[in-house]
Formats: sequence, C-alpha cells, structure tokens
Amino acid sequence: MNKTAFVSKEQIEEIVKEFPTPFHIYDEKGIRANAQAMKEAFAWNKGFKEYFAVKANPNPHLIKILNEYGCGCDCSSKTELMLSKAMGITGSDIMFSSNATPAEEFEYAAKLGATINLDDFTHIEFLEKTIGYIPETISCRYNPGGVFEVCNGIMDNPGDAKYGFTPEQMVEGFKLLKAKGAKHFGIHAFLASNVVQNEYYPMLAKVLFELAVKLKEETGVHIAFVNLSGGIGIPYRPDQEPCDIRAVGEGVRKVYEEVLVPAGMDDVAIFTELGRFMMGPYGGLVTKAVHEKHIHKEYIGCDACAVNLMRPAMYGAYHHITVLGKEDAPCDHKYDITGSLCENNDKFAIDRMLPEIEKGDYLFIHDTGAHGYAMGYNYNGKLKSAEILLREDGSAKLIRRAETPKDYYATLDCFDIFEKFDF
Ligand SMILES: *Cc1c(COP(=O)(O)O)cnc(C)c1O
Repeated sequence: MNKTAFVSKEQIEEIVKEFPTPFHIYDEKGIRANAQAMKEAFAWNKGFKEYFAVKANPNPHLIKILNEYGCGCDCSSKTELMLSKAMGITGSDIMFSSNATPAEEFEYAAKLGATINLDDFTHIEFLEKTIGYIPETISCRYNPGGVFEVCNGIMDNPGDAKYGFTPEQMVEGFKLLKAKGAKHFGIHAFLASNVVQNEYYPMLAKVLFELAVKLKEETGVHIAFVNLSGGIGIPYRPDQEPCDIRAVGEGVRKVYEEVLVPAGMDDVAIFTELGRFMMGPYGGLVTKAVHEKHIHKEYIGCDACAVNLMRPAMYGAYHHITVLGKEDAPCDHKYDITGSLCENNDKFAIDRMLPEIEKGDYLFIHDTGAHGYAMGYNYNGKLKSAEILLREDGSAKLIRRAETPKDYYATLDCFDIFEKFDF
C-alpha cells in the first residue's frame, strides 16, 4: 500500500503560523468514514456497539466525533471514567474493563451505571463488598490459556497474560454471580493485539460463542453480549494491507449463525472495544527537522522526541515517515531520525531510506492517532505537544494546547519553590 500523509506541506506551513511544531494532527474526514464503515459492518447485529478504548486517545473532541456514530467509551481507570461522564457518556454506554482494580474505581463505575467487566474471579466478592450488591448486568473477562493462532501463525500467548478468568473459573464465576442476583451476562476476551488479518475477530468470536453456549447450558444464565474487545490492527508498514472491516463483520456474522443461532441465542449483542483501528491511521505527528549530524551514521534531529510518540522507543515499532513536500523525491538517503532525549533509543526511525532532508523540513510521522499522544510522558523535562484537528473543510482547530513548564511543575504548587520559577 502506498502510504500518503493526509496533509500537505502547504497546509502545514499555514498551520505552523499559529501552532508551532511538534503537534499531533487528526483527520476528521478519515475518522468519520471509518466510524461509519465500522457501524455498517456490524449493522446486522441488533445490539452492536463499539466502545472506543479511551486509553488509545483520551481527547474529548475526537471521542465526541465517534459518539455521533453510536460509539461508547471503554474505560480502564477512574480518570477515564471521569472524562466519559463529563462528556455525557454514562450508564450502559460505558464499558469498564480494568484489572487490579482499586475499590474506589469500582465504586465510581457503579455510580455511573457503567457495565463492569470483571478481570478476576476474586473480584466477584470484592465488587459485592465494595458497592454492596452485584449489578444485574455483569461481564467477565476470559483467558483460555495456551497460545492463540490465526492463519497458522501464533498471534499471542494468553497463557502468559495476566488477564481474565480460566475456563473453570468462568463456569464457577457465572454460577456465583447468578446466585448473587446477576441477570444479564457478558463475556469478554482480548487474545491478540494489532492483527491486520480479517480472520482474527471471526476466530475469536468462534471461541467466545462456543463458550457462551457452554456457559448457558451449564449455568442457565442469560448471555446478553459477547465483547470482542480490541486488537484489530492497522498497516503501520507500507507492505501491509489494511483489514477489511466489512469482511470482518461478515465473518463474525457467519460464525454467529453457525454457533449462536442454532443454540437459540439470537439475541446476543456483539460489542467491540477498538482503539487502534478507530483512531490510529487518522493521526500523524508533525515535527520539524532542526539538526543534521554526520558522524558514524547520518542523523536528523527533530523537535519531537519519544515523549511525543513512545512506540518506536518502547517496542521498536515501525512508524512510516513522509518528508512533506518531497513525496515524489527518490528515497536515496539513509538516516536515523532522532529526538533530543538523553536516551539512545529516542529514534523514530533507524537506517530509514528517505529523500534528502534539509533543516526546516517537516516530517509527518504516520499512524499516531492511537497510543501516540496518550502514551506520552515527561522525561528530561520534555513537554507534551498540542493536538490539532484537521476539519473536513480543511481548517485546523486546536483541540488540546501544548503543555507549558507551569503545567509540568504544577504538582509543586504547594511549596515555596513554585514561586521561584521564571514561568
Ligand atoms: C487496550 C485495550 C483495548 C484497545 O486495544 P486496541 O489494540 O487499541 O484496539 C480494548 N480493550 C481493552 C480491555 C484494552 O486493554
């Protein structure tokens, strides 16, 4: 696939007059088209709902766009729940999928009427003790153990993952929850991450639908929903193809008709908690080349660093880079593209073939819409960047200002030293 930036050099030159680099920019048109396609792909299922994984991009302006297409919020902490509530997204429009959950988070989730997805068998009693009852609608996260294979390749290793109930605990858990008053049950599993093959969701659905039938038969509970969670990937690399969400939706429908319908379970709603797929491709980090260095290798230093996008430093993740204005120039120079942290892994790309880069060029680092800004940190006193929405009419709207030194030092504001900074 030919990866192209959704902004041009000319557009960026206009935007930087008002908002200096670095910043993450988001493509409203792309977000909307994808959310619409997602909705249509699962329209066959009456109760279908996508709960956007807030951790992937907790910007309310973006979540609001998704909400227009019926998306709720998948929250993993109290702070995320607070954002959802502030946006008016409450009750069953929230899925609370957390682990090692503190009591106050269960309390707050229950207060908002969120659907709680329990990560552990012991959380059944912990939840009951904490909030004083078991909600009528409740979900449990499943961990089958072993390895999970898609297309004859091992996708992930649930046996090593800290999440979920074992198969035996699912049965015992549903019996216990039923005895404590739960009426509508959900099953959730997240068995592989960033998978672009169309087969992932249908294969996961088969595992969960078969489990749903078994749980219904063995415990007599009403299975209200199956939550396929996140995990659909995006083509970070130019040689990858994007997953075809319509084919995914059809694949899940086929398994639904094979497994659930014959078991008389044709009222089961399908839920998803996609983060990366909903937002990843529709964000880019725009940074300026500010330094070139010729030592044992060729380096281009940028005004962004791993604080703005951690994935390459953290996982060695590939992020495609476009040198804006040089889209058609030959990639005949080999560079390491770096940030300014005192960490040698602060590199957005290593040995990357790119057009010749001059100081002042703008680099567009692709696919930062999910797990980009959100993973940011403040090492070396580096500040988080602004976020900008490129609207459908081509105008740019600031949707989060850049952090200032005062923000960075704000938690010292109760001490004398706070008065002594040159803010
Ligand atoms: C991270 C996460 C998601 C979203 O994952 P993506 O890979 O971004 O789709 C969904 N659900 C849970 C419980 C998660 O932890």
